[in-house]
Amino acid sequence: MHELSIIANLFELLEEQAGKVGANKITLVKLKVGVLSGVVPELLQTAFDIYKKDTLAAEAELVIEKVPLRMICQNCHQETIRNDIIFTCSFCGSSQLEKKEGTELILEKVELEIDE
Ligand SMILES: [Zn+2]
Repeated sequence: MHELSIIANLFELLEEQAGKVGANKITLVKLKVGVLSGVVPELLQTAFDIYKKDTLAAEAELVIEKVPLRMICQNCHQETIRNDIIFTCSFCGSSQLEKKEGTELILEKVELEIDE
């Protein structure tokens, strides 16, 4: 499962961040996942729940924001926003589109708790 290796990398990053600031608990993790990122949000959630046990993020909540595909038509210059992966302009039907958004997988936010 592709998602499991993404989550493994994510946890490396999280533990590094937590270590830097001396946090002993991760409470929230927010990811932005584009429809074209090749990642299935539901699988990401499952992988996160499996992986978080016995880590600083054991009680953390994972929030996944799905980013639709945003494209600019090279023919009529209109913007098309889609939640599926059909690459045609909604206005003129052209397939000459420039992808602006929807391919990303970003760690947007982490909330940590630091006990004195
Ligand atoms: Zn168009």
